[in-house]
Amino acid sequence: TKFVEGAKERKELYNKMLELKGNIRVFCRCRPLNTEEIGSGASMVVDFESAKDGELIVKSNGAPRRIFKFDSVFGPQANQGDVFEDTAPFAASVLDGYNVCIFAYGQTGTGKTFTMEGTEGARGVNYRILEELFRLTKERQKLHRYKVSVSVLEVYNEQIRDLLVSASQSGNGSKRLEVRQISEGIHHVPGMVEAPVDNMSEVWEVLQTGSNARAVGSTNCNEHSSRSHCIHCVMVKGENLLNGECTSSKLWLVDLAGSERIAKVEVQGERLKETQNINRSLSALGDVISALATKSPHVPFRNSKLTHLLQDSLGGDSKTLMFVQISPNENDLNETLCSLNFASRVRGIELGPAKRQL
Ligand code: ADP
Repeated sequence: TKFVEGAKERKELYNKMLELKGNIRVFCRCRPLNTEEIGSGASMVVDFESAKDGELIVKSNGAPRRIFKFDSVFGPQANQGDVFEDTAPFAASVLDGYNVCIFAYGQTGTGKTFTMEGTEGARGVNYRILEELFRLTKERQKLHRYKVSVSVLEVYNEQIRDLLVSASQSGNGSKRLEVRQISEGIHHVPGMVEAPVDNMSEVWEVLQTGSNARAVGSTNCNEHSSRSHCIHCVMVKGENLLNGECTSSKLWLVDLAGSERIAKVEVQGERLKETQNINRSLSALGDVISALATKSPHVPFRNSKLTHLLQDSLGGDSKTLMFVQISPNENDLNETLCSLNFASRVRGIELGPAKRQL
């Protein structure tokens, strides 16, 4: 398809962008219609036929076409490998000593977890970027030595839960994870545990352990995961064997809570608190990234646990990638437009009336 064929050109364009632009990228990924939607005759609102590279065109009955621009756009035919091709360069940035944050944002059911975690047969960004990290550490081993460790956290209702602590204590995994406490470096999580990893089978075990621990204590696992942010923090310490120079960097991989706006009148009690906390943290994240994109003098990191946690990895010379995940289904149009507007704001490009000519 067009998307696969365009991969090489996209990569060149992307490398050019890395040199020319700031440190914030937004990729848009649209999932395919699912069997149920096809069965019920749902129509697609995203027009991939006439879109140019980097464009996402939304058209629905009667309404004017709307064109959004992103650093990369992945249609329903793009597979996990295509998506990762554009994401892979961030692994080298981490080894070079940059902090990197990668987020998946969007309505529940649009493929955030599919993009980040993936499935056993179609692994996502979390696994692939660690695989790329290890590939590069091997490639660089004559000159550099690296130590990699992974932590897994969850933010639910503005509270941070360390998912490896409970897993390592309960011995749920196939073998108990080797974990140690980190004393410095991470805001807000005193005593956070990290699992040192040397190869991909250890990585896989940590990812699985974190994923299993998420479900513990929740009555409805799917609902819980759509209402909480799942965060992997990969810490890399590097040493240049020639000059002894050391680097220390973090890679954050974040599967955000569902962005759907639930009308406050429909929910009460715990659910209302949850909704307010999700809305608060997602808008705080949008505010922070757009403040950084527009180089605003004030960046409101302290407005949510999530932004506070990521403070030292957002801005400065850190690199940020946001996947905005959307549904092609006409019935989801309102949420899709909300997500696309959010993502455009994140890129620092306000949509509005065209500038009047002077
Ligand atoms: P979210 O995390 O946003 O709630 P999920 O990742 O759980 O969404 O995706 C919902 C469903 O759609 C899952 O069954 C997932 O496997 C499927 N899906 C999502 N994106 C894709 C895609 N690009 N290709 C194939 N299946 C997808």
